[in-house]
Amino acid sequence: MGMGAGRKPPSYNVQTAVDAETSLIVHHEVTTEPTDNRLLHPMAKATKQAVEADTLTVVADAGYSNGTDAAACERDAITPCVPANRAINNKGDGTLFDRSLFDYDSAADAYRCPAGRTLMRKQIMRRDNCVLYAAQDCSGCALKPRCTTAERRFLTRHFHDDALQRMNARVAADPGLMRQRRCAAEHPFGTIKRMTAGGRFLTRGLAKVKAEAALSVLAYNILRAVNLIGASALRAKLA
Ligand code: SF4
Repeated sequence: MGMGAGRKPPSYNVQTAVDAETSLIVHHEVTTEPTDNRLLHPMAKATKQAVEADTLTVVADAGYSNGTDAAACERDAITPCVPANRAINNKGDGTLFDRSLFDYDSAADAYRCPAGRTLMRKQIMRRDNCVLYAAQDCSGCALKPRCTTAERRFLTRHFHDDALQRMNARVAADPGLMRQRRCAAEHPFGTIKRMTAGGRFLTRGLAKVKAEAALSVLAYNILRAVNLIGASALRAKLA
């Protein structure tokens, strides 16, 4: 797993789901996933079960943006709020037309480009979970130098692009969500890192690291509950 620039030491990817009101960790997991990209739905679903809720709203950072997971969350009565994590069009010098400038027509299953021409469905790319669309003819287009360095322009659309768009739109409609996420999610991580060896596990191997992480989460939650309601009230509730 990468840790910024430089070395990639053996690491675990610790996931936490934090209650926005109390900052208590309501679910956590230690994974060997190198990134967060495939963890939105598994974490959200497990959290919903842990808190025994019928519905759940989850807010996560752009690293969790994943159309397949967004659609799976919606199927499981989970409302995901995750900003887009799309790379800009990095072909050419990086200034070519972004895909957001192309309008999708669901009835025709085709895109309309900034010059008003049509990009038709060309190929299903199952490995990448998307469909490839291709411009029919880019010859003579005055915008071509700003659009593509190839003979014609191509675009991809994720199988669950609609769910992805809905997810992005929720974040765009409420900018405070990401601020709230930062405050809620970073607080426990910061506290646990301070309580432990700066975020380094003392044990080795997944099973032992899971146990160590669970003890850290338990300690954090006890500390947090004491701060919220006081030691006497907590003792009384646990009695
Ligand atoms: S290059 Fe092709 S896809 Fe791009 S704007 Fe021109 S006609 Fe449209």
